[in-house]
Amino acid sequence: MVSRVIPVDPFDLIIFGGTGDLARRKILPGLFRRFCSGQMPPNARIIGAARANLGQAGYQEMIRAAIAEFGAPTDVENAQLGAFLAQLNYVAIDIRGDGGWAELAAMVRKNLVNAYYFSVGPGLFGDIASRLNTWGIATPEARIVVEKPFGRDLESAKSLNAILSAQFDENQIYRIDHYLGKETVQNLMAVRFGNLLFEPLWNAQYIDHIQITVAEIVGVGGRGAYYDKSGAMRDMVQNHLMQLLCLIAMEPPSHFDPDAVRDEKLKVIRSLAKVEPHHVVRGQYDATATMPSYRDDAENPRSFTESYVAIKTHIENWRWAGVPFYLRTGKKLKARTSEIAIVFKKLPHSIFEKSSDEKQNVLSIQLQPNEGMTLDVTIKEPGPGGMRLIHVPLDMTFADALGEHSEDTPDAYERLIMDVIRGDQTLFMRGDEVEAAWKWTDPIINAWENRNDVPKIYDVGSVGPEDAMALIHRDGRRWREVK
Ligand code: NAD
Repeated sequence: MVSRVIPVDPFDLIIFGGTGDLARRKILPGLFRRFCSGQMPPNARIIGAARANLGQAGYQEMIRAAIAEFGAPTDVENAQLGAFLAQLNYVAIDIRGDGGWAELAAMVRKNLVNAYYFSVGPGLFGDIASRLNTWGIATPEARIVVEKPFGRDLESAKSLNAILSAQFDENQIYRIDHYLGKETVQNLMAVRFGNLLFEPLWNAQYIDHIQITVAEIVGVGGRGAYYDKSGAMRDMVQNHLMQLLCLIAMEPPSHFDPDAVRDEKLKVIRSLAKVEPHHVVRGQYDATATMPSYRDDAENPRSFTESYVAIKTHIENWRWAGVPFYLRTGKKLKARTSEIAIVFKKLPHSIFEKSSDEKQNVLSIQLQPNEGMTLDVTIKEPGPGGMRLIHVPLDMTFADALGEHSEDTPDAYERLIMDVIRGDQTLFMRGDEVEAAWKWTDPIINAWENRNDVPKIYDVGSVGPEDAMALIHRDGRRWREVK
């Protein structure tokens, strides 16, 4: 299949925090891959803006090292590295003061697409936003990109929205949730709304329940201090898992356009039932003979922060009445996997012998490690021996189906940055969506904090705490295998 990379318009992308971990690990290696694919035009420019006193050459060297370390470039890509680095500039800037702003103002080419990536802590968003305007840098067409976490509760999210909207219109603000940049997530919309097959079955009449799992093998590693103030609910559920839930549950938008899609997602969040306390399980991983506990990793021996959470919820509307949504996410689990499973109801009547092992159809959407979809169907076991039924997956692993073309599949960050340059907000969270999500998670978190809730312990390498198993077993259902 022939690659269909279409170059974007020339741009100046300014990365505040251009020397930081995120910029070096994700943003610049991602941009380099887009450059190699031919999507980044030769007259586009990336301007790193950070505290360090680096010159242009020093910054280029830093990014050369970052791409070697985090980008895993091929030989063909390495041959293009010099040309890519030549498109990099740098300004040493003091975000809270005056240093560097005049230089930045002189450098930005306003007749091109301008995007400002706020790859810094949220405490600096207001300083950047107001200085971009005081120094006359940002035009009404400029775009700003902000990273998670977008607040730590409804109140702080509202104040961040207020800070940004004091200087920029909502159609200029791109709030990143990198889960939305994954190929499979977009494919979920293509599968639902591009095929006749699934949508008629996509409701309480045919769907028994839905499971969303994001399991990680890693612990909190070097992020312990940050994570300990956040926990799985704020770090994963409020953003990534809720965004996935929205895409599964939303009504078909009238068009594939940013506000039509986001309007439908918002309706889902607003229809989420209040979660009963016994429908939430929090967990924290314990030490083994060889592995440290969460409390060791977080360097907080009295921490009550959860590294695992499982929730059963419902959506209160006609389509989903009575269909449970089970969400779970955790660290230091048995395997790294992100999966959405749509489990269909049992057959109303089986014409086959009772002894046949009756299984439900499951549409499984995997986001990582390999992106793809499988549909479990029942067929006859081949060969003689009567009508014996077996269950096989119809496998739609994209790498196999798309052949060579899949090599061009950009990772989530690359795709989202290119969407910013194209001015497409579909895969970015709108301010009201973020606030609605906090409004749903706040009461759950507040209840834990008010009663000093102690998380249930689980073993490193397990599938989570026992109580999380009971949460679903009580309903006569099972979690999908974490593998
Ligand atoms: P970092 O601490 O590694 O980098 C911070 C950057 O900001 C540096 O370039 C620093 O020079 C610059 N900076 C800080 N204060 C400044 C000031 N007063 N003036 C000028 N420059 C200043 O942080 P990071 O890990 O890259 O994270 C950046 C943002 O992205 C944070 O909001 C974080 O929550 C978010 N984020 C990071 C990751 C990740 O993997 N690192 C993942 C998701 C979200």
